[in-house]
Amino acid sequence: AVKRGGRGGWRIHDPGASDPAADRLRLLEQLRHGIADGQLRLHHQPRVDLASGRTTGVEALVRWQHPERGLLPPAEFIEVAEESGLVRELGAWVLEAAVAQAAAWNASGRSLEVSVNVSARQLADPDLSSTVATALARHGVPASQLVLEITETALMLDPVAAATTLRRLADLGTRIAVDDFGTGYASLTYLRRFPVHELKVDKSFVDGVARDSGDRAIVATCLQLAHALGLTSVAEGVETREQRDALAELGCHVVQGYLFGRPVPAELLAP
Ligand code: C2E
Ligand code: MG
Ligand code: MG
Ligand code: MG
Repeated sequence: AVKRGGRGGWRIHDPGASDPAADRLRLLEQLRHGIADGQLRLHHQPRVDLASGRTTGVEALVRWQHPERGLLPPAEFIEVAEESGLVRELGAWVLEAAVAQAAAWNASGRSLEVSVNVSARQLADPDLSSTVATALARHGVPASQLVLEITETALMLDPVAAATTLRRLADLGTRIAVDDFGTGYASLTYLRRFPVHELKVDKSFVDGVARDSGDRAIVATCLQLAHALGLTSVAEGVETREQRDALAELGCHVVQGYLFGRPVPAELLAP
């Protein structure tokens, strides 16, 4: 087959070489099958209260146990799922699994908040709040134990629909977090328009908080904003003690990162 080359020229298509569009389609079909076949896994990363040093919650992060390629991180499949709409099925599985895990911890006498990532497509789904309510009711988990993480970008895609959905979720009693805060192109007015309970300062700013005065100023400003609005402040991607100390000095409430623990299956979560 002859294909149009990168710089406007022509090249011979090698049938053995990969075709990105066909690869994506194949991945999508495998994922559709994999979800139905029970190949998704949840890993949990501790969220630590900085003042007490206690693990008060976890973030649930999806992985895919691919039959040939092994355990895949979300970077390998979330985008394909989001573009195709399959992320709704994936998201429903994640919610169900995360709430079931919260119930199992409750039953063992350990109460942990569980944070779940919600994509733009899920947020646009008018059934999201009933999916959440059903999962919570089925497992007898209080809504206040569930945090839904949403990026600024997802919020701004359809702000009117997002406001309605978030209002319903907040009325249920779930908490709403703005994920990767500071990296989207959103106006801050959304913090007034949407019911938001938590700001998660993005790792890209946390990286330099102990050595770069610019990053430190950005983190300080995000934390001040969170605190002035009465929101919980969270820093993600904390890898060093220097970063932790800087965040403590700036009054950050909750920290999450490899320094405190990597995402692991529930049975491997440190007590
Ligand atoms: P996120 O929600 O911002 O999650 C944080 C990511 O940073 C996770 O990557 C986590 O493993 C990683 N991380 C945490 N601490 C550190 C650290 O100290 N250093 C470094 N280098 N990385 C750290 P992961 O699990 O690969 O997830 C990537 C993204 O995929 C997530 O970013 C989230 O946007 C998305 N995602 C994960 N699970 C789900 C899900 O169930 N549904 C949806 N829609 N998206 C998900
Ligand atoms: Mg997140
Ligand atoms: Mg994040
Ligand atoms: Mg992030």
